[in-house]
Amino acid sequence: MGTDLKSVLITKEEIDAKLAELAAKIDAEYAGKDLLIVGVLKGAVMVMADLARALSTPVTMDWMAVSSYGAGTQSSGVVRILKDLDTDIKGKHVLIVEDIIDSGLTLSWLLSNLGSREPASLEVCTLLRKPEAAKVAIDVKWIGFDIPNEFVVGYGLDYAEKYRNLPFVGTLAPHVYGG
Ligand code: 5GP
Ligand code: MG
Ligand code: MG
Repeated sequence: MGTDLKSVLITKEEIDAKLAELAAKIDAEYAGKDLLIVGVLKGAVMVMADLARALSTPVTMDWMAVSSYGAGTQSSGVVRILKDLDTDIKGKHVLIVEDIIDSGLTLSWLLSNLGSREPASLEVCTLLRKPEAAKVAIDVKWIGFDIPNEFVVGYGLDYAEKYRNLPFVGTLAPHVYGG
């Protein structure tokens, strides 16, 4: 990492505290129900793992992989399924777990795709949200942090597949991505 990082935006402690807070709300919402949490690979791996352990509600877990960004920092506007769910979600309570919502493009696509499979309910929990996303008419029930419009890495988020294993969220120095 070294000089590749500009600053730590959200510490591990802040993430842990926020996930505990979100987990309590999610527990309350799904009390007595079967909940399937769907992680969007690869970015949501850390949020899924830590949120799932913070929940008291028993959950099942499934994963989807979609691609919208390629290797760079700009949205391509194209969403592709790289890996679909293993399970049929018809009649199930489904919670999509995301790392970050930027343009909202990936999420609105996911919501309509999963929504067409007739789940009993479909909600979204994201760790991070950027300002652009707030302009899009998508209903995100649980949001960890609203962050500035900067490219962030760590805690699952990558730049060219690197930095995912940082335990915190940080901003990347512009020289790393040629900004
Ligand atoms: P959206 O479709 O909402 O624009 O973008 C969603 C996806 O873009 C995220 O799941 C993530 O993979 C990627 N993304 C958006 N903003 C950032 C960012 O600041 N840093 C990183 N590493 N990925 C981002
Ligand atoms: Mg994501
Ligand atoms: Mg990425």
